[in-house]
Amino acid sequence: MSAKIIDGKAFSATVRAKVAGHVARLKAEHGITPGLAVVLVGEDPASQVYVRSKGKMTVEVGMKSVEHKLDVETSEADLLALIKTLNADASIHGILVQLPLPDHLNEDLVINSIDPAKDVDGFHISNVGLLATGQKAMVPCTPLGCLMMLRDHHGSLSGLNAVVVGRSNIVGKPMAQLLLRDSCTVTIAHSRTKDIQDLCRGADILVAAVGRAQMITGDWVKPGATVIDVGINRIDAPEKGEGKTRLVGDVDFASASAVAGAITPVPGGVGPMTIACLLANTVTACCRANNIAEPEGLTA
Ligand code: NDP
Repeated sequence: MSAKIIDGKAFSATVRAKVAGHVARLKAEHGITPGLAVVLVGEDPASQVYVRSKGKMTVEVGMKSVEHKLDVETSEADLLALIKTLNADASIHGILVQLPLPDHLNEDLVINSIDPAKDVDGFHISNVGLLATGQKAMVPCTPLGCLMMLRDHHGSLSGLNAVVVGRSNIVGKPMAQLLLRDSCTVTIAHSRTKDIQDLCRGADILVAAVGRAQMITGDWVKPGATVIDVGINRIDAPEKGEGKTRLVGDVDFASASAVAGAITPVPGGVGPMTIACLLANTVTACCRANNIAEPEGLTA
């Protein structure tokens, strides 16, 4: 069997087009421009790339983009003061603090200082609780993107066996909550899980969020299963020349795609959906803040 490739790049373009349509309507019918503020502390090169591309795509869909680039030595008090100002700014509907933060800053304290209604990353403790109790929440972008692709591929997810490998707060746990909400039977696996390979082989939906290059091979995959590969790992690629590298997922694409029914590639799968969902969350937050009906299909 050769799996259907779930094209996250193409799907993310349709999500961004939908977001752009709603932004245009918010402007034309309500005179409101959704605004997203991104806060970056320090000069981590990967974070700088993410922030740049978030800003570019925010502007492309017609939203206001504000970037705050702070010195790596910024004090916690100064960062909290900036977030307080953004919380009070009516032109800003979404606030994202780029993680990881430098060691001297308390990530939980900083994230929990964001107004939950503007917490477009969905990491605030209130949003975590709302999601866990099945209430209206801001949903973390990466799992939301995975859910959108799964719903698009399967239609209903009800009754399917899902295994999520990874239990992080930003991917594994919220992914499991979302699948549970869609009536999957969900198992979360992690580094201490026994017989993990057998467990994965029972999954109709297998989500890999581990951070270990190509760990999940074809013999972990149930024939016909849908495999969502969240992992982003850089490995040496001597075939491209000396010192060259390439990106791979947590899934060994070659062997898994020979067994799976559908699979997301890396790159071009989950990654592009994450930024699209950040934009979707900002529009959703803007609608909620202004008591305007939310766009359909852009949240969980
Ligand atoms: P974390 O490191 O926070 O969590 C990794 C999880 O994997 C942990 O729960 C850990 O278990 C589990 N794990 C580690 N080794 C094993 C193993 N051998 N067997 C089973 N489980 C294992 O990572 P994140 O959740 O933040 O990210 C996961 C991956 O997704 C990374 O590659 C990251 O780069 C990528 N990512 C991609 C995004 C995108 O937009 N595409 C966004 C966010 C992340 P334990 O808890 O027991 O230690």
